Amino acid sequence: MIPRVEIIALGGTIACQPDAAGAGVAPSLTAADLVIAVPALAGRAVVGARDLANLPSTEIDLPLLFALAILIRAFEQDGTEGVVVTQGTDTIEETAYVLDLLHNGRLPVVVTGAMRNPSLPGADGPANLLAAVTCAVDPACRDLGVLVAFDDTIHAARWVQKRDTTSTGAFWSPAPLGWLAEGEVALYARAKRRAGVSVPTDAAVPFVPILKPGISDEPRLIEAAMAAGAAGLVLDLAGGGHVHTDWLAPLSDAAKRVPVVFASRTRGGRVLGGTYRQPGGEIDLVSRGLTGSGDLDALKARLLLMLLLMAGRPDEFALRASLSLPALTS
Ligand code: ASP
Repeated sequence: MIPRVEIIALGGTIACQPDAAGAGVAPSLTAADLVIAVPALAGRAVVGARDLANLPSTEIDLPLLFALAILIRAFEQDGTEGVVVTQGTDTIEETAYVLDLLHNGRLPVVVTGAMRNPSLPGADGPANLLAAVTCAVDPACRDLGVLVAFDDTIHAARWVQKRDTTSTGAFWSPAPLGWLAEGEVALYARAKRRAGVSVPTDAAVPFVPILKPGISDEPRLIEAAMAAGAAGLVLDLAGGGHVHTDWLAPLSDAAKRVPVVFASRTRGGRVLGGTYRQPGGEIDLVSRGLTGSGDLDALKARLLLMLLLMAGRPDEFALRASLSLPALTS
């Protein structure tokens, strides 16, 4: 039987069209428009098209993602084999990770978009949509959580990062799970999954800013963030997790009041935990009550901390930030 896939559109470049005056593009195409543009989809799946928003992806917020997660759950209960989400690429590394944290189901959820809008030569939206639907119907992609299919590469949402402003190969992860070759999924790895984070529907979205110090930077923003009601802080630090000594006293104070996480601004590799003993090194930061972001970059660490604060489980941060540990059993 031909599998059923729901395509849920949120907007972004894949849905953009130029205005009559030629003054730039904006999202306006619907999910149905995207489907019509790719006749090859019909050979892969019975495709449903649903519009949840039509926005630039920087307008996507947590309440919209919570609504999307509920919709995905309903589709799964209804027997849908896979879900594809189309959206702007600017925030895919965040939105796909949030969906991954919320998704407890078995069905593949595959996020995609386009770097070149449909009016440009070599527009990549149709190929990415076909690739995403191909993943969504492939049994090998079940139980993998949320995936990002882009430029014929399959990334795990928990690892993927956008690393280029214009390249059609803008998405990167340290080890993609696989590729699409001749229209077929070729998986080379299976990332471990954890139980989803259960966020109460009435939980308020906490204020958790990211602070990224450069050299000769002043720590005034820490006090400003705390005075503005930060429920947590994420520091995007140099190297393996290193900061100027001027920042230590305010960071120690903040860590007594809220969770303070440090990530690496290199956006690659794990933050360190036990190598450098200089003041402001990772050993010092941990001794002051800060927590390393494990394998997560600052953007993903912030979202994990926010969802765990909403769930009342910030203590799970370190466990969940380590992507290579065995799955939670509870
Ligand atoms: N600005 C677009 C967005 O909504 C960029 C894109 O889709 O590539 O993220």
